[in-house]
Amino acid sequence: VILPRAVRDALVAHARDAAPGECCGVLVGSAGAIVSAVPARNLSGQPSRFLIDPEDHIQARRAARAAGRDVVGFYHSHPDHPARPSQYDLDHAWPTFAYIIVAVASGKSEAMTVWYLKEDRSAFDEGELNGN
Ligand SMILES: [Zn+2]
Repeated sequence: VILPRAVRDALVAHARDAAPGECCGVLVGSAGAIVSAVPARNLSGQPSRFLIDPEDHIQARRAARAAGRDVVGFYHSHPDHPARPSQYDLDHAWPTFAYIIVAVASGKSEAMTVWYLKEDRSAFDEGELNGN
């Protein structure tokens, strides 16, 4: 999926701001290209969990539709953890959406990966992030 540099930078900034908590948000665009990211509230009270506020999700979807776009995925951060999906991430993912994970650790450069749930929901396949 194409991820513009400016959006990538925004995801990293959000992840660093939220650390040591997890940030989360909605990815807007079309199939194959993300054009913007909308930060959302993380309703999960637990560490290493994220739960996108459904209101933020609905609002982002409405705004995306009005602009002729759609919600194509979600992002969240892994503070001090690798950019690989957890079992929790697997259990809470939906097919067809792009799941971007931003791993941040203090004093280190970030890592970013994108994942797609297999049709049978058994695991994720890693995708490719391309800048433009
Ligand atoms: Zn995660």
